[in-house]
Amino acid sequence: MPALVLLAAPASRAQAPTPSSSADVPASQAAGIIREITEAVGLQPRFELRATSQVDNAAAVVYSGKRYLLYNPTFLAEVNQAGHTDWAGISILAHEMGHHLNGHTLRPGGSQPEDELEADEFSGFVLRRLGASLAQAQAAMAAVSPDAGSATHPGRTPRLAAISRGWARATAQIVASTKAGAVQPSAQPIALAPRPTPRPNAEAADAATPALLARGGSDAPVRLVGQLTFRNNPEVPFYLTSALNVVRLADESSSDEDDATRVRDAEVVGRLRRTGNAAFPFVLEDGQQRPLFVTPRGDVYDQEGQRVAKLHD
Ligand SMILES: [Zn+2]
Repeated sequence: MPALVLLAAPASRAQAPTPSSSADVPASQAAGIIREITEAVGLQPRFELRATSQVDNAAAVVYSGKRYLLYNPTFLAEVNQAGHTDWAGISILAHEMGHHLNGHTLRPGGSQPEDELEADEFSGFVLRRLGASLAQAQAAMAAVSPDAGSATHPGRTPRLAAISRGWARATAQIVASTKAGAVQPSAQPIALAPRPTPRPNAEAADAATPALLARGGSDAPVRLVGQLTFRNNPEVPFYLTSALNVVRLADESSSDEDDATRVRDAEVVGRLRRTGNAAFPFVLEDGQQRPLFVTPRGDVYDQEGQRVAKLHD
């Protein structure tokens, strides 16, 4: 049954994502995925697909002059489960194929961030060709990629943007060759659930305690996910909440509650809005001044291109 689901027409998967099981992804299923991907991009698979527990997740490697695509079937099943869609595992395999097809495995040395973004873009392209929505194409990366980048891998935001670029490139091709009115998969990007952010200092940790409540009648706790520091006013910290509001906290000394139940007022002074633009995924609006533009790294620019603030942990 699970094998049939993945080998069925992509359109039916897009409409009715099946509940993932915790069972490993069988080899026949992975082979079917590879066949679908190579047909979608019009290439022959010039590598051997191997299910193995020798790798933790998946890898494109060349061994004794032969190309292999290695994957851990348990990992693929876990990704499907974490991403709530079988498209998640497909995008992992597509990503590894992207390494082979872009020639990354022919160079000495390991992963580099640019290679990862190329492979991500390829996976977005392939998943759109197979009929996935943008959110489905991004599901695996949203679930497994760490927020912060490393020496070998970019952080989650640029990787999601790379998938979006590939997805959009395929959409442009498909729309150009499809008659008007044909149903297209949704271009809505994946909605990211906020992750707990490690607090770098005691003051911020204090501010993030559940005792912090929003002003204005609502008793919903406000969770702080970042801090915003303006270059011309670095002493006054602003905080970003999980609802993307920018808040300033009232001075602690103004509160006369005892410490255990202390409620600090949070004044909302602005809001981050998603733009869908990869270079500036957010715009910061405060309702009065002109908008500020936020890069994936958290640098905040004004309309003249001056860096005016930094969004950080
Ligand atoms: Zn990779």
